[in-house]
Amino acid sequence: MPELPEVETVRRGLEPVMDGARFAKVEVHRGDLRWPLPKDFKERLQGKTVTGLGRRAKYLLADLSSGDVLLMHLGMSGSFHVFRETGGKKLARYYHAREKHVAHDHVVFHRSSGAIVTFNDPRRFGSMKIVARDRLDAEPLLNRLGPEPLGNAFDAAMLAAACTGKKTSLKAALSDQRVVAGLGNIYVCEALHRARLSPKRIASTIASKTGAPNERAERLVEGIKAVLDDAIKAGGSSLRDHKRPDGDLGAFQHHFRVYDREGQRCITPHCPGTVKRIVQNGRSTFYCPICQK
Ligand SMILES: [Zn+2]
Repeated sequence: MPELPEVETVRRGLEPVMDGARFAKVEVHRGDLRWPLPKDFKERLQGKTVTGLGRRAKYLLADLSSGDVLLMHLGMSGSFHVFRETGGKKLARYYHAREKHVAHDHVVFHRSSGAIVTFNDPRRFGSMKIVARDRLDAEPLLNRLGPEPLGNAFDAAMLAAACTGKKTSLKAALSDQRVVAGLGNIYVCEALHRARLSPKRIASTIASKTGAPNERAERLVEGIKAVLDDAIKAGGSSLRDHKRPDGDLGAFQHHFRVYDREGQRCITPHCPGTVKRIVQNGRSTFYCPICQK
């Protein structure tokens, strides 16, 4: 399941082909993604210009000249691919000639620039929705999301306030999209390791009784921002070096410190620990029991 850094990487990869160009034509091969596409999906896109491509948590938001916003979510297995119309001018390095219709290409955007953007999703947990911009604040997919972890407003005080009185584990609290948006299993594990905090620690222990942040909350916010920044940088370099024949945006190699490293040495300097795997709320947690307290 893509998390915030992967979605941000996709946003940066798509921005040059989405922003500033019109939807010349929209093809829908399967209208039943996670939810059915709206009946007027094509009509509300065709002829409209994208005036900006943003991101909120794991949603991509394409602002349209009509006042609508196209919301897109990758789900479990969704990916965007960018192609060049045959005979079109050269666009960018990660463009590829589109030989033929590919299985699971459910939605195809023909851009007025000559680029073709396909949305491919074998498991169909991805979704697309069109919402009027002035109704975005009331949109149920977005309006319960917590703060953006890379936003300036997200700091130790905000995280501590969200964790005050919470008797769940830190792992569960950080995975809760209402506490902080966009983190999933991988980056929660990685952020906790950077912050040297145990995933089993009770969430309320990063705040005083009155909700003021302590030094743990400071470390945790630093760890969250650092791990996301590093992953986005890694994603950015994977876009620049893109040589995969399928033009896939969204998959890149990370260097994880604990995730999927069960039984291997902890890489914290001078820590003699071994990475351990436990199960919390049905998901694997990887951590070092020696340096994460
Ligand atoms: Zn360790």
